[in-house]
Amino acid sequence: MIVDLDDDVAIVTGAASGIGRAIAVRFAEAGADVVVADIDADGGADTVAQIEDTGGTGVFVDVDVSDGDDVGAMVEATSERFGGIDILVNNAGGSLAGDDNLHRIDESTWRTNIDVNLTGSFLCSKAVLPEMAAGGGGRMVHMSSVNALMGIGLTSYSSAKSGLFALSRTIATQYGRHGIRSNVICPGTIETENRRREMEASGGSDVRDEWLEQYALDRFGTPDDVADAALYLASDMSSFVTGTELLVDGGLTTGLDHSL
Ligand code: NAD
Repeated sequence: MIVDLDDDVAIVTGAASGIGRAIAVRFAEAGADVVVADIDADGGADTVAQIEDTGGTGVFVDVDVSDGDDVGAMVEATSERFGGIDILVNNAGGSLAGDDNLHRIDESTWRTNIDVNLTGSFLCSKAVLPEMAAGGGGRMVHMSSVNALMGIGLTSYSSAKSGLFALSRTIATQYGRHGIRSNVICPGTIETENRRREMEASGGSDVRDEWLEQYALDRFGTPDDVADAALYLASDMSSFVTGTELLVDGGLTTGLDHSL
């Protein structure tokens, strides 16, 4: 089967850089009209330019996903421009505001991470539901993390990302009869520009090598690795897949066999 998003309209949040940008471009290459939704207008314009380079259609919408009014305006603008919404990728987020181990974070750090990573996904999912149902169905993909499974620091980020499992599964069961599928992606370390800079700042090649040691496939992921997984979950290739979590982590969570 050829992966084809022709006639589909997709909203990708956090598409001004990194993983979200790779997803937006990949979806456009597959034929979708893409809304690049982000708080970063400059990065958003760069993503739109990359989409146009592929011959696709992309539109930037300035939105803070943790703000219900912004999210409502984004959905309205998308429907007006494209006449419906078929795909939502809840990708905006990250470990924000100095997230850390429990004893080192304050309440505002906790709330910021929950607001953007979890409440933002709730707001966007809820806002697109009527459009998807009216159009006969849709597909939602929520960007979680291996942190949701492993208990490795970043308490508020990890808590928000595991909340996405329940959000996604409840959407899957509540709206499956309306043709809506909902799934989660859990990436391991993905070498985006921002991530590379963070690794440099926290110790350079030593830290990099230490992390790499944990990966069965002996490499970190690329934004394109995640974009391919998102394309699968957003297309008819996964038409019998809903309420599940897809790990894109190079074997990190599987653990290593050091017996060789
Ligand atoms: P990134 O920082 O490159 O991109 C995140 C994007 O989200 C940015 O464009 C930013 O402007 C946008 N954003 C942040 N807050 C926002 C808000 N309130 N409203 C709208 N947009 C907002 O990060 P990335 O590495 O590409 O991460 C993308 C997603 O993948 C995140 O949810 C992150 O938690 C998840 N993830 C990343 C990795 C990794 O190693 N890179 C691993 C696991 C999960």
